[in-house]
Amino acid sequence: MEKHELVIVGGSAGGIQVAMCAQKHHDLKDILVIRMEEKTMVHCGIPYIYGTLGAVEKNIMPDKLLGDAKLKVGEVVSIDRKGKTVKLKDGEEIGYQKLVLATGSSPLQPPIPGMDKRNVWFAWNNTDYLEELAKAIDGVGDIVVIGGGFIGLEFADECRKKGHKVTVIELLEHCLQMVCSTDLCIRAEETLKENGIRIITGNGVKSINGDNKADSITLQNGEQIKCDMVIVGIGVVPNIKVAKNAELEIGPTGSIKVDEFQRTTDPNIFAVGDCAEKYSFFNGLPVPVRLASVATREGKIAAANLYQAQWRNIGTIGVFSTLVGDTAIAMAGLTDTKARELGYDVVIGEAQAASKHPGTLPDAKPMKVRLAFDRRSGKILGGCACCTNAVGEVSNMISAAIVNGMTMEQIAMFPMGTHPWLTASPLAYQFTDAASNALHSVNKVKEKVAVSS
Ligand SMILES: Cc1cc2nc3c(=O)[nH]c(=O)nc-3n(C[C@H](O)[C@H](O)[C@H](O)COP(=O)(O)OP(=O)(O)OC[C@H]3O[C@@H](n4cnc5c(N)ncnc54)[C@H](O)[C@@H]3O)c2cc1C
Repeated sequence: MEKHELVIVGGSAGGIQVAMCAQKHHDLKDILVIRMEEKTMVHCGIPYIYGTLGAVEKNIMPDKLLGDAKLKVGEVVSIDRKGKTVKLKDGEEIGYQKLVLATGSSPLQPPIPGMDKRNVWFAWNNTDYLEELAKAIDGVGDIVVIGGGFIGLEFADECRKKGHKVTVIELLEHCLQMVCSTDLCIRAEETLKENGIRIITGNGVKSINGDNKADSITLQNGEQIKCDMVIVGIGVVPNIKVAKNAELEIGPTGSIKVDEFQRTTDPNIFAVGDCAEKYSFFNGLPVPVRLASVATREGKIAAANLYQAQWRNIGTIGVFSTLVGDTAIAMAGLTDTKARELGYDVVIGEAQAASKHPGTLPDAKPMKVRLAFDRRSGKILGGCACCTNAVGEVSNMISAAIVNGMTMEQIAMFPMGTHPWLTASPLAYQFTDAASNALHSVNKVKEKVAVSS
């Protein structure tokens, strides 16, 4: 029987990161990565296959990232924790000293009548399936996208770039509502509408109709929408079957329970990525945030802790960004609504200025930053940014401020650097100005209270 120092089940974002870091951190030579697919997709790139990239093979994760780790294609069906082996579907058994589960998640398929029709598609990480989806998209006119989160909107936007008539159906009041403040949700919706996409919010899908193929959907309000195909992007469910059968504990969000060192309830087994439970940075409670950036961070932590607890997971801060049409939206931490739900007295600071200076430079666009603070401690809770240029790094900066517990005063005084082509003017730098504006509003209130008392 084959036996390895480290066996990783899952060869996508989380699993690959574990393999990379175990080599760097422990100089481990004997690593086996097992995954079900021969080639793995850049998951986040899947929507772009159907517009900008134009081909499945342009969205493949390079296996050279695995370094010296060996790759085996197969499905792990069980774990013998006592014997420290995993069993593959073809019956092969493989021994491990340490095991990391990075089994990810699968698209959520809600129990809506008609969901099983053959032209209803999901974002499965499978090259053959995605090739079929590409052919299917090429042959149709009207596409209904169920789900107005970032996956649904990215699919919708790419399909409209190819000339399809696209309708997005979102159950909540706004698209992106789970992750963004309302003004940015509306901004994203407006951009999509300007580009010809029909957006229906506050309305769910009651049924998908047609004989074998979907030819229309019926909304909860009774409206019928004609379609030639349906794409569903409404979330994922963690792949935990193997872990559950091995009697590893499962957490409240249905993911594998881990401690702050990514250890499961078996000290020789770790879990990372979409299959592992996440705990909020803000209150330590379980949160269903499933992102590649979270998976890779957990992969680094698990790899470092294989032989002794070294790196601690300080909790999950959702950091998202997306681009719809020419509108880039980025956000980190709590939305205003979520912060209020958690009992914070929220102070908002906003600032908008041209993304370059002077604003007459080519491609300078208005860029807005909105930050949310806790009035009592002054600490930043979250924030978002929006521009017609990329703002992905702004949400990363907000995330850094959250992790370090920065207050509005500290951010207002943050020693930033500027350049005409690359940033706003130092007189109107959005990140620091949003914090200054929050600080001014708090100070004004304090002064008024002092004067009146
Ligand atoms: C369309 C789309 C867009 C996205 N965009 C973004 C984005 O912009 N930014 C972001 O941060 N995140 C994004 N995400 C989320 C991100 O893709 C996931 O969070 C990330 O892929 C999780 O990585 P993972 O390694 O935990 O799991 P997965 O990527 O799901 O990989 C799981 C791996 O486990 C293997 N596996 C599972 N079960 C077994 C088994 N029994 N035996 C052997 N192997 C097994 C699979 O073969 C696969 O290799 C997006 C997701 C989708 C679907």
